[in-house]
Amino acid sequence: MPVVDASPTAPAHPGADFGTLERLDPEIAAVVRGEAEREAAGLQLVAAENFTSPAVLAALGSVLANKYAEGYPGARHHGGCEVVDEAERIAVDRAKGLFGAAHANVQPHSGSAAVLAAYAALLKPGDTLLAMGLPSGGHLTHGAPSNFSGRWFDVVGYGVDARSGLLDYAQVRELARTHRPRAIVVGSISYPRHPDYAAFREIADEVGAYLVADAAHPIGLVAGGAAPSPVPYADVVCATTHKVLRGPRGGMLLCGEELAERIDRAVFPFTQGGAQMHTIAAKAVAFGEAARPAFTTYAHQVVSNARVLGEGLAAEGLALTTGGTDTHLLTVDPAPLGLDGREARARLAAAGIVLDTCALPYGEGRGLRLGTAAVTTQGMGEAQMARVAALFALALRGERRAAGGVRELARRFPPYPDAPFRG
Ligand SMILES: *Cc1c(COP(=O)(O)O)cnc(C)c1O
Repeated sequence: MPVVDASPTAPAHPGADFGTLERLDPEIAAVVRGEAEREAAGLQLVAAENFTSPAVLAALGSVLANKYAEGYPGARHHGGCEVVDEAERIAVDRAKGLFGAAHANVQPHSGSAAVLAAYAALLKPGDTLLAMGLPSGGHLTHGAPSNFSGRWFDVVGYGVDARSGLLDYAQVRELARTHRPRAIVVGSISYPRHPDYAAFREIADEVGAYLVADAAHPIGLVAGGAAPSPVPYADVVCATTHKVLRGPRGGMLLCGEELAERIDRAVFPFTQGGAQMHTIAAKAVAFGEAARPAFTTYAHQVVSNARVLGEGLAAEGLALTTGGTDTHLLTVDPAPLGLDGREARARLAAAGIVLDTCALPYGEGRGLRLGTAAVTTQGMGEAQMARVAALFALALRGERRAAGGVRELARRFPPYPDAPFRG
């Protein structure tokens, strides 16, 4: 294998070289530098985000980006795939080992592409799909009218109990019995609790439906043993690789042997063209990292951090939906402080605290959705979460000193302590 030459004049280079970008395209280099500074300067609490490792970034920025590779290892439509085939074989083996799945497809370009492929493998246009309704925390691919899922399927939405915010399994069962869906989807963009996968399996079996788990958010916790796995229960598991799992932006599918061929054909050639081999190599790196003991520690710390942050926010007067969290995710209602979600997000942003708004289980108001994956990757623990809760409250009250506190805290936990492109 070629070795990276540290000399700035090295002519042959297998991967990213920020110095070259700065020389040849200072305009885009400035964007990259500016984003690195923005990510490091504030508190990144967007629940779907994380900081990938320098090794993942190196694979992403490598010459594997040059390679066309339609098809699967050993059966490609392009020549010269023998080297990159190895990256995909390693990624698939690591994914299977990490999640205890019989089959893995690591080619989906995104979480949405993974869901599209799962539906393509199992459903025909016009089939009925039972998934979490968007106002309750369903993803766009779970039946939004603006998404292919809402256009091509007859989608029935289940919800959460308005008072407890918890999944209402009796309602899921009743809707399944009434509508006889071809597939049931379990998964959400904002549900902070573990779904009961066994209960969903039972309901799916009762009505003869496939069970699709869209574990885009919790799959990283599953990898670290900090959340129950949907793999033993679902016919197909869809996931992203870039959320708590901390890999490159992308998707993944897991299933049993009996659906393996249908899933593979649903990805390529049905919904995608050539695989992105640099991303697949980066996924392999991330799966390798996630198999190490340090990742298990991280995944459990993510959950502890979310619990402590939730307790802190509750003590500051915010209302936590479902009363807390089992995961990296928190959804909170700032209404008790006299703010709606949008105003709250703007005040937090002004202090350098970055997060999203979300729907709430009740009413029309917006809440706030946040997660602890990125700050945990930075090395923050429970003590820092208590501080984040205090800064949150300061920022929501519009106090100027919140911004200084955020900067000071973030400075102590740089996401890339050794990154060559820092300041
Ligand atoms: C993030 C997410 C997706 C989509 O992932 P993209 O990579 O943005 O396409 C799908 N489903 C759920 C539940 C998600 O949280």
